[in-house]
Amino acid sequence: MMVLMIMSDYEPPPYRPPNEAGSVLLRVSRGCPWNRCAFCDMYKRIRFEKRPLGELERDIKAAREIYGSSARELFIGDSNSLSVKELPEVLKIVYSEFPKLERVTSYARASTLKRLGADRLKVIKEAGLTRVHVGLESGDAKTLELMNKGTTPEVMIEGAHEAKMAGLEVSEYVLLGAGGMARWKEHAVETARVLSAIDPDFIRMRTLTIQQGTPLSEMVKSKQFEPVTPLVRLEETLVIVSGLEVTDTELASDHITNYLYVDGRLVYDGVAGHLPEAKNDLVKHISKTLEFLKNTDGEIWDSNYMLERGYIVGL
Ligand code: SF4
Repeated sequence: MMVLMIMSDYEPPPYRPPNEAGSVLLRVSRGCPWNRCAFCDMYKRIRFEKRPLGELERDIKAAREIYGSSARELFIGDSNSLSVKELPEVLKIVYSEFPKLERVTSYARASTLKRLGADRLKVIKEAGLTRVHVGLESGDAKTLELMNKGTTPEVMIEGAHEAKMAGLEVSEYVLLGAGGMARWKEHAVETARVLSAIDPDFIRMRTLTIQQGTPLSEMVKSKQFEPVTPLVRLEETLVIVSGLEVTDTELASDHITNYLYVDGRLVYDGVAGHLPEAKNDLVKHISKTLEFLKNTDGEIWDSNYMLERGYIVGL
């Protein structure tokens, strides 16, 4: 009875990366301090706030009941908990309840990483954070502006460098399709350039989906933004992967938005591998898929097609 009461009070973050599905989830803050990206509706209905330490202590204890004290991975939400001053203190409590943790990660905005700088990030790293998940989306300044990302490619590079200097692993998220039909090439070329400059530990591909109620959906209705076709998205992926000059990076496409179907049959689920070794094979894989799709008579389904027809309801 006692355990159930504790568990019913536990408040996990509403979003986490797919690779954190099995991790202990801890919501250190609620919402996003920026909350203005044109494509995003994740935290639109809530204001950014950090959670009181007392609540967090209660949640950490509840999480221990749920996951067990021998958990190895923990994810911190919501979108930018690195801006919470008490984070090192929170991490101390986390490790006292989960002493076997090997990976502790959080979403982080590049501008926050830059503002905190390597010295402060090192304090957070020493308290136990091991990795940050950063939404790069695009390396193209105009695409970032169009998506109202509130930052620049330079800040993306500088923020990631500060994190790396502090010893944190950096995982960068790319938003395929973010440039639309008008800027897909620039988006791809510049994204490869910025990722190469960052040389992150992980690159994760996501595909832009048009979510109802977002500023982007209005831009689509008013024809200010034309979403890319599945073929153009693959061309874009080809340009990005071909242009990557990284030294030790795990590339993943671990998201349903990357899938492509022909008449309902899955024909492509993204590209994944360790770079630079896998680059040539990945380029061949994308080229072969492109060739196949150009010659198919079937209907090509992408994530927007799936969303519109209700095959997927949330992402
Ligand atoms: S994409 Fe990230 S930074 Fe942008 S509004 Fe959504 S949560 Fe905030």
